[in-house]
Amino acid sequence: MKVGYLSEIFVSFQGEGAHVGRRHLFVRTAGCNLRCRYCDTPDSLQRTNTYTALRSARPPEVGSNPISAAELAGLITSMLEHEAPIDAIALTGGEPLAQSDFLVATLECGRFPVPVLLETNGLLPEQLRKILPLVTIVSMDIKLPSNTGEGPLWEEHAQCLQLARIKDLYVKILVDRHTLHEDIEQASSLVAAFDPTLPVFMQPITAASGQASIDLDRLTQFYCIARRLLSSVRVLPQTHKLLGIH
Ligand code: SF4
Repeated sequence: MKVGYLSEIFVSFQGEGAHVGRRHLFVRTAGCNLRCRYCDTPDSLQRTNTYTALRSARPPEVGSNPISAAELAGLITSMLEHEAPIDAIALTGGEPLAQSDFLVATLECGRFPVPVLLETNGLLPEQLRKILPLVTIVSMDIKLPSNTGEGPLWEEHAQCLQLARIKDLYVKILVDRHTLHEDIEQASSLVAAFDPTLPVFMQPITAASGQASIDLDRLTQFYCIARRLLSSVRVLPQTHKLLGIH
């Protein structure tokens, strides 16, 4: 029996990327292989003994970890039914690929009527390979050393891009006042080497107050660097923070 660690499960509007504004069931796993300086989900970085299920018009329900794949599949089925309409199941984290075997077992348990969108930091190619057959959409970050505070991870990103390109794939690049021009250049070159038409979302890192931590001049410079190499670049704020929602 496969078990895993869940942080929370809830329904909200997708705040980022190509499916922004759609209503998703978010399955947020606990644990992450990175510690980005700007992380906005600090409560999901460690595995904990409990998870929270947030359903409409009900107080938060607390469940125990680890949770079995069958139990999570049942919870997803129930929430899809009772919280409809929902456009997709968004696997998020933390880093969902850190528990890829558990998520594969969960997706194999259920026959879900909506597509599965994987939100990943794009750094665990072997784990990505396992789950890809069960996923329709991949939202992949390219992590920049200048704003994550982590080291360069270009090779891992290249391997994940290579695997995920067969899916409905888009890339997210988070930027702020710490971001260096050379990181934007390198990330754009990396994506362009696979597919210069791949949709790329440049996302100013946004505080909970809705304030972006980058000025328009710098953002425009970054956009122009990326746009020289890529044909589909869009600047998009983290809209869930503007709306003040989960
Ligand atoms: S990869 Fe995502 S969840 Fe993990 S530390 Fe970075 S921002 Fe946070």
